[in-house]
Amino acid sequence: MNRFVQSTKERYVPEDLPEFAIRENTDDVIIIGNPDSETLYQIPQSVKLGSRVFRSTRPVASRSVQVAVRQAAVLRPQLTRLLHSSAPHRVIAAAVNPNTSASLKVGDQLHGYAVTSVEDVPELCLTAYKLRHTRTGAEHLHIAREDSNNVFSVSFRTTPSNSTGVAHILEHLALCGSAKYPVRDPFMKMLTRSLSTFMNAFTGPDYTMYPFSTQNSRDFYNLLSIYLDATFHPRLRQLDFLQEGWRLEHADINDRNSPLVFKGVVFNEMKGVFSSPSAIYTRALINKLFPDNTYANESGGDPLVIPSLSYEELKDFHAQHYHPSNSRFFTYGNFPLEQHLEAIDKVIGNFEENSKLAEGSFVNEQTRWKSAVHDKLSCQNDPLAPFPDKQTTLGVTYMLESLTDTHENFTLAILGSLLTDGPSSPFYEALIDSGLGSDYAPFSGVQKFTKQSLFSIGLQGIAPDQSGAVQKAINMALKNAYTEGFPMERVDAILHRIELGTKHQSSNFGLGLAMNLNTYWNHGVDPIQCLRVNEHVEQFKRSLAADPKYLQKKVREHFIDNSHKLVIEMSPSDSYESKLAEAEKTLLEKKIAKLTDGDRAVIYENGKQLLAAQEATEDLSILPTLNVHRDISRSFKATAIEKDKVGGVPVQWSAQPTNGIVYFNAVTSLQTETFPMKLIPFLPLFSSVMTKLGAGPWDRKKLDQEVSMRTDGLGVGVHIADHHTVFGSFEQGLTFSSHCLERNVEAMFALWTELFRRIRFDDDHEHLKQLIRIASAELAASVPHNGHRYAMTRAASSFGGAMKMRELVSGMSSLAYFRLVAASPEKVQEVVANLKQIAELLLNGKRLRIAINGEAAAIRSSLATVESFVSNIGGSGEKAKVGEAESTTSAIVMPTLNASTSNEHFIFPFSTNYLSRGVFCAPFSHPDFARLRIASSLVSAKFLHREIREKGGAYGGGAKFDSSGVFSYFSYRDPQVTGTMEAFDRAGEWLLRTDNYTDAEIDEAKLQVFQSVDAPVVPGEAGLEQFLIGRTDEMRQEYRLRLLEVGKADIQEVAERYLIGSPALQSGVCLIGPSSEVTANNDKWKVRIVSQ
Ligand SMILES: [Zn+2]
Repeated sequence: MNRFVQSTKERYVPEDLPEFAIRENTDDVIIIGNPDSETLYQIPQSVKLGSRVFRSTRPVASRSVQVAVRQAAVLRPQLTRLLHSSAPHRVIAAAVNPNTSASLKVGDQLHGYAVTSVEDVPELCLTAYKLRHTRTGAEHLHIAREDSNNVFSVSFRTTPSNSTGVAHILEHLALCGSAKYPVRDPFMKMLTRSLSTFMNAFTGPDYTMYPFSTQNSRDFYNLLSIYLDATFHPRLRQLDFLQEGWRLEHADINDRNSPLVFKGVVFNEMKGVFSSPSAIYTRALINKLFPDNTYANESGGDPLVIPSLSYEELKDFHAQHYHPSNSRFFTYGNFPLEQHLEAIDKVIGNFEENSKLAEGSFVNEQTRWKSAVHDKLSCQNDPLAPFPDKQTTLGVTYMLESLTDTHENFTLAILGSLLTDGPSSPFYEALIDSGLGSDYAPFSGVQKFTKQSLFSIGLQGIAPDQSGAVQKAINMALKNAYTEGFPMERVDAILHRIELGTKHQSSNFGLGLAMNLNTYWNHGVDPIQCLRVNEHVEQFKRSLAADPKYLQKKVREHFIDNSHKLVIEMSPSDSYESKLAEAEKTLLEKKIAKLTDGDRAVIYENGKQLLAAQEATEDLSILPTLNVHRDISRSFKATAIEKDKVGGVPVQWSAQPTNGIVYFNAVTSLQTETFPMKLIPFLPLFSSVMTKLGAGPWDRKKLDQEVSMRTDGLGVGVHIADHHTVFGSFEQGLTFSSHCLERNVEAMFALWTELFRRIRFDDDHEHLKQLIRIASAELAASVPHNGHRYAMTRAASSFGGAMKMRELVSGMSSLAYFRLVAASPEKVQEVVANLKQIAELLLNGKRLRIAINGEAAAIRSSLATVESFVSNIGGSGEKAKVGEAESTTSAIVMPTLNASTSNEHFIFPFSTNYLSRGVFCAPFSHPDFARLRIASSLVSAKFLHREIREKGGAYGGGAKFDSSGVFSYFSYRDPQVTGTMEAFDRAGEWLLRTDNYTDAEIDEAKLQVFQSVDAPVVPGEAGLEQFLIGRTDEMRQEYRLRLLEVGKADIQEVAERYLIGSPALQSGVCLIGPSSEVTANNDKWKVRIVSQ
């Protein structure tokens, strides 16, 4: 499962968890990204992907393309991350929890537990219950809240004393079968027997956590049973250790004479993780800031150390850590607590308390250094760096305070936000505006996942001789912050966002809570303290009122006078990869030299046994399952929406329990026949800078301030929606989104009005160049995390139409394009001219449509505001129809039967591959769509997963079928090429032969598809599917019935019609990965050299 990657900004969003890509995320309609090559307008042809445009991956905290979509224009503060996670979901006026023991009080005993505290937290509309399991000392936190998306999690404090990755490998092994459920990968198998909204496991630097969420009560207890058995009674077989951890094995399992190599899922996974400079940087940062406690070790495992872990050490680690006395249970939602406790007690009630275990996993605080420490690192070259000679990262990191001081850490989060977020912050001015580098260094801001929090700040993309200048700029910025303080309006803006954050409802609120509270709770901090947002705010205000220099003093205390300071300078080295490969080779040789003949015989046998085990069919009937017919309703609850024209513009609105927030969404579509093709590649750039340049009366800093005071940020994205019926037709344009407290609706629209009318494109071209560099760096950094998406988009682009457009605005070619624009600062005038033209063509009412969600009482006044907005921006309602993603049968017509069958290989300095091949099939409203959707889920779970992950050793793989009508095969962090391509080729055949699967397995595939079909929709997003992509409730109802009715014959039929052999509408394979013998000197492949 997924290692918890600390650099991921929104780590609990399933989107960021690639393994679950086979979950078939709901259709990605809105895409932000960037432009391509051929259309490149005034950019020399040589810039095409084939040339040496690329140079390597960028060290940025992983902000994925997806995240960027809804991530508003304003730099999202770390603080908001903290607060967002404290941001409610589905808060309904009377927040009394009907099912839960409203009568429970401190001292009550039930099911082996004693209630130790009961507290209401009105600002988050919840009641928190803390309990202790009397026999074992296990702690339990229950958050009762009127939210149907119930959450469970169990976590253990796992503090490794070396970098063998033992905690991480154990997490994998826990999922290799347990006493009651002796089947491999029960989580993966439950994916198709459940309606879970989230299932995963994470290994962090000091804990391992197993969370899930679901809206279905039966499902909850099914999953609970699996999770408890997996963690407390895993089989931990040696063969699984070899598969998941590491092993020596013959390259060809059947050939004793083939060379011995290292294999293992975690071994490969971690090699993949460290093929990104940002991962190398953040790892060093943590390891070196805390040299004297557990954080000095790489908890995920260092590929060069993993092979020293023994099976016995792993078993011992389980015994020491996965015990109730070292555990924390979390439950959340509207299901009753009593039943949870009863179920858990049945499993842990047989353990004895062992207080030594919690002592053993305790994290000692790092002693504060007397003086700063400097360190130099090297990493791989980045083929995507716009300036190859500017690839140095310089960062300064301070150790802050123990998480046990929750209020000080709350204050530090505010301080961190004041220092780094938004264009008026001291570090933005000192570093970003300086033009010295491309973007903040990874991890910039306050970070709280270690026992003592930290603050990091730095720049990436700098010239090697500028690191001194960057350090100086950092020191200067701190000094200025100390002497000058912060404008009160910025503090107010942050407090406003906190208020908004407590009211905004996200669908994964409970899960966010589980993750965030656990980092504190794991160290014995009372988690309820962290929930009391209002108390922290009040206390903060009091401190500020009592001492106007309060914040300045904190700057001095935590930064200027803080001697625990780590300076890291990281630069690329040409020999980085070869040295690493050499080190691995040496290690391998050493291991091999020690082998006796007996060892060799065992290795050979193990290899065969593993293969046999992978191929063995398992009895899965032992696993609990939901039942499609019983647990999935044949009809779904329609969303009440109303539509009308307001000022000539189509508007949709929906009255929802939004907790006093008004949500605005809009789409402006472009006419592909008349919109200049040369502007298409600029759409992503436009969307990423639109709200950052200033508008009307506001320069960029004042605009940012105004945005923060009135809203939670303004979002702009590139929109591509496939037409639901007319094949090959699609809508393209921009989306706009924001939300605000009811009292700020007019102010929010005033912001949009100015942005639609008067963007200040010419205020500050230097800043625009910097924004372009940042966008380019962020995109480049997304490749290692989203390589499969890039591969899928690229492969499908050969079908033209919307797929081609996606490639232009969010694919590989867009990366090259952004990099090019970033590397050509002298052309900023041309860029500006294009952006202005886009503004002129799109920012008006001509092809605009708007959606408003809010409380019934707020809708009327909001609509009046919409009306004046529309009249202010002009050109209303030329052609748009609400709720209908228009079919603009575009000039860029679908190519007919001759999709390119040539394979492409983009060479990247990664250690593993991402592959994809696409087959063009059918649009949404076609009856085959539902069949193909089920087929993709079936073949992923029952065939591709086994071939690509279990046998092939990849981290993930499967098939995805989405609104584009393209059936995409993919693999993720895959050591293979040929084997995976063969698996893709065989998938259709596998589906055709109906004896490969049972009716029950088709039902499982249905369950999996319904996880996204019936995913929770928060009030702020109700009705948006119809608004954005034009699928009406009637269409969805029809689709629903079709999904439920799919049978073997249907699968067989679509397999035959679309997927067998070499289908006419099949793309070539797109491979993103290191150079390979498979593609070199092979005329079936176009190799794109992307590194020097
Ligand atoms: Zn893993």
